[in-house]
Amino acid sequence: MKSSKPTGSFAPPEVQRFILPMTLSSIAIMAVLILEDVFNEAPLHINLLVYGLIIITGTVINHFVIVRTADFRETYGWLNAILSGIGLGLLPYVLPIHLHEVAYILIPFGVIAAAIVSGRPYAYTTLFITLILNVAHALGSAESFPGLLAFSIPFIVSFIIVEALLYIKDTTQQHIHRLETINTVSRQIMLSLDKEQTILLLDETIQEALEADTYFIGLLRENEIHLDLFYDEGQYFSGAKIPLEGTLSGWVIKQQKELFLPDLRREVELEGVGIFVVGKEKTSLSWMGVPLTAPNVRGVISLGSYRPNAFDSADMELLSSLAQHITLALDNTIQHAQVEEQARLDSLTSVYNHGYFLKVLAEQALESSATNTSLSLIMLDIDFFKQYNDTYGHLVGDRILKTLCAAIRHHIKQTDAVGRWGGEEFVISLPGASGAQARQVAERIGQTMAALRIEDREQRTIPVPTVSQGIALYPAEADEIYRLIDLADRRLYIAKERGRNQIEPEIHDWESNHHKKMSR
Ligand code: GH3
Ligand code: MG
Ligand code: MG
Repeated sequence: MKSSKPTGSFAPPEVQRFILPMTLSSIAIMAVLILEDVFNEAPLHINLLVYGLIIITGTVINHFVIVRTADFRETYGWLNAILSGIGLGLLPYVLPIHLHEVAYILIPFGVIAAAIVSGRPYAYTTLFITLILNVAHALGSAESFPGLLAFSIPFIVSFIIVEALLYIKDTTQQHIHRLETINTVSRQIMLSLDKEQTILLLDETIQEALEADTYFIGLLRENEIHLDLFYDEGQYFSGAKIPLEGTLSGWVIKQQKELFLPDLRREVELEGVGIFVVGKEKTSLSWMGVPLTAPNVRGVISLGSYRPNAFDSADMELLSSLAQHITLALDNTIQHAQVEEQARLDSLTSVYNHGYFLKVLAEQALESSATNTSLSLIMLDIDFFKQYNDTYGHLVGDRILKTLCAAIRHHIKQTDAVGRWGGEEFVISLPGASGAQARQVAERIGQTMAALRIEDREQRTIPVPTVSQGIALYPAEADEIYRLIDLADRRLYIAKERGRNQIEPEIHDWESNHHKKMSR
């Protein structure tokens, strides 16, 4: 985290503003004391005069010089605390007896300022020195001792205010730290186009900014909540699922509402919700859940603690804002993946486009070489398709192309690939398939096409075009993918030449070819 000032402390101008009211009132009080002493009938109190001027000078220097120095804490902190202690401790020595109450105001001011400027140890140093000097003064002049309670008031008040202030400061700084965390994370999250990375960032943020014994992010798929990240008391679990029905998380997803349950021992009054235990066999006593809702995302982030009342509304706000960032980021990653997928596909038939098919084929060829298995390639072209289009129209032609691709997909395995080579020409790669197996696939595609019944706009049955196919084997016949494609293409041309609606090579050709190859 880059920051011009160390986290956890206020900047000098801020500190100046915090102590300004005390600086001004201290100066005013001292000024009034001096003026009163100068202008009244009684003889001058030289001690008070000198003291007042020193205090005013010291306060001004402290405020405008020391506090403004960025490193005042290290350089002047202790000196300042000790001098303030002495200054405040001397009050009873210089103040006329009827003005002793002024100390009740000035002591807390000095100590509070030290706490704000430098921190707790400095404030208590000032307070302690003041106390020692005051006790010494009280012991020295028994008649002016105002009673134990009255004597302790400025010290007690100083202590209470210092503690309250420092508590507020710590809390504020905790909030600032959490906001900084959210800010940093949200920037990283927006840049992440990868789901795993997004979830990792969520994990880091929860660890950093929230105190939960258990948490998860659940994404809704097929009516079940899949826990993509699931942490329980120091352990990560993977692959867990919880039902949508009857669970707190399910309620959050269905209602699209946040849920804050400070104490689960009290009855949860949500329709159809029971407590569902996942991970360790322990039930959370505090629970927070926020929905994730975007066009491509439905889910929940849930946080639990085995302590009751572990979370407050600030935690809930933090989680809520984190959830918004995560939702957007997850939605982005999904959209990004969809766009990438779209860019690989032919828009009419949804099979791979030319470029992506080549990429897949290259990978399959590598794999096939590594595992010493064969790879078959079929090149397929529709017969007299130009004429077909001319007769029945381009729209019918397009339907044929889509139907053909569906038929091809129907006959190939998940690991096989099909691509549109161009126009009405398609390529099919079959990793692990022998020539005979590839021929069988080619035959089935041809048969399926022949068995199709399609109708034109007037519901008249129209003929379906036939297809010609050429097959080549890697690495037995071509040990490089472009040569493989070229061979399949030449064989397709032979099939066309022979009269179309057929597959080249014929199985017996193949066997004799193979023999020739083997015997060479
Ligand atoms: P052959 O049996 O020799 O392959 O004859 P053919 O008419 O199929 O071959 P040719 O290469 O001359 O014509 C290909 C035709 O495929 C031209 C074009 O009308 C048609 N075609 C290419 N792409 C599309 C398409 O996306 N939609 C439709 N409807 N037709 C297409
Ligand atoms: Mg053709
Ligand atoms: Mg063609």
